[in-house]
Amino acid sequence: MDLIRSIPKVDKILTEPVCQRLLKDHPRPVVLAAVRQVLDELRKATLAGRVQAADLTPTAVCAGIERCLAAGEAFSLRRVVNGTGVVIHTNLGRSSLAPRLREHLADIAFGYSTLEYDLAAGERGTRYAHVEQLICRLTGAEAALVVNNNAAAVLLVLSAMGAGREVVVSRGELVEIGGAFRIPDVMKLGGALLREVGTTNRTHLRDYRGAITDQTAMLLKVHCSNFAVIGFTAEVTVSELVALGKECGVPVVADIGSGNLVDWQGVAGMNEPRVQEYLAAGVDLVTFSGDKLLGGPQAGIIAGRAAVINPLKKHQLLRALRVDKLTLAALEGTLRLYRDEQLAWAEIPTLRLLRMTAAELKKKGQQALRRLRRQLPDSITAELVTGFSQVGGGALPLAELPTWLLAIRSAEHSTRELEEGLRRQPVPVIGRIAHGDFLLDLRTVADDDWPAVVDALRAVSV
Ligand SMILES: *Cc1c(COP(=O)(O)O)cnc(C)c1O
Repeated sequence: MDLIRSIPKVDKILTEPVCQRLLKDHPRPVVLAAVRQVLDELRKATLAGRVQAADLTPTAVCAGIERCLAAGEAFSLRRVVNGTGVVIHTNLGRSSLAPRLREHLADIAFGYSTLEYDLAAGERGTRYAHVEQLICRLTGAEAALVVNNNAAAVLLVLSAMGAGREVVVSRGELVEIGGAFRIPDVMKLGGALLREVGTTNRTHLRDYRGAITDQTAMLLKVHCSNFAVIGFTAEVTVSELVALGKECGVPVVADIGSGNLVDWQGVAGMNEPRVQEYLAAGVDLVTFSGDKLLGGPQAGIIAGRAAVINPLKKHQLLRALRVDKLTLAALEGTLRLYRDEQLAWAEIPTLRLLRMTAAELKKKGQQALRRLRRQLPDSITAELVTGFSQVGGGALPLAELPTWLLAIRSAEHSTRELEEGLRRQPVPVIGRIAHGDFLLDLRTVADDDWPAVVDALRAVSV
């Protein structure tokens, strides 16, 4: 009870020099909220018998308030250093945008724009017009539409074309993408009836043929993005499916996941077909993500025949799935780089990072090592080791990209403590632990990340 009574009162603590200083730097309601939170927690801890007199001195309480404010000041959604080597890391924001889009994005974000305004006509326009021609030109599609993400694209297509009717899918393609996007569930949500054909490892053209009735809305091909079936397998090719669709008068739709536009010739393991190849094979419509291999913002792109896409543009659901101006600005900017494939390779981080060779990464590693040795205390040591990076984003799960990593050790901390300490910095550094070492994959650490890495390593080593 004595302890409870010795917890300082709010008014009293606010007169402390530390709090007076905090009040100068932060809005009063924010400081007050931190004071109340800390005193409240102290009260509870005291009642639970976890507090000693020394924890209740004005100095100790003020230090707690300062920590509480500092923690609350950091943005929740903030920049991190990606040292995992997973290029399209869904938990870390998937693709980063091309730096040259920065100024254009700021223009659109901080001012008015032509979002739904037709400059030539001087009247209302549509937001979807900004990227449609570009998508058509790059992919060979007749028409295109953009929604919030690929999950939304699939939902819209199923709702508009499949509601109350049957959608034929191979049992080998009933995928679940991370974050619980499951083809059978999306199908249900869109009101379409799933008509499964074939088996997990083998599906034949005759299986599709046998499932087509006058209730069939479409043949759906789904990219097995994040898994591979190996061994005794059989899959119907896109061309075969298209021929069957034509013969039976049923549209063929492909959810191709990643949305690859470039030729990966020469990059080992990157055997991803291009969007244009699906459309050239005669698929009526494809859907794909904007922020996987395409390297743009989160978006879902629907491209294909005008007769199939035009009704989607009028569907009520589109309003709920519509993209905002920042997405459109980032997508238009990214797609414009693809007009010149060399420019796309050079400027789009996702493409650039995936194509980096082990030799380039080793050179990057040697530079990083020199810098770290110059700037870090002796208690932190680092060496270069070889390993593999991953594509991520549920794309090409078997591709292993040879890479170089920094293996970092601390004389004062265990690997676990090092990992956790780096994760708790103002600019968190996210790596991985393997064989007892903390590893930073050079592929995903950007050149301008190194000052943040140095700061973080210094902070954990004190
Ligand atoms: C990733 C993926 C999705 C979901 O795309 P989002 O853009 O993340 O919504 C759907 N289908 C396939 C085949 C995918 O690979």
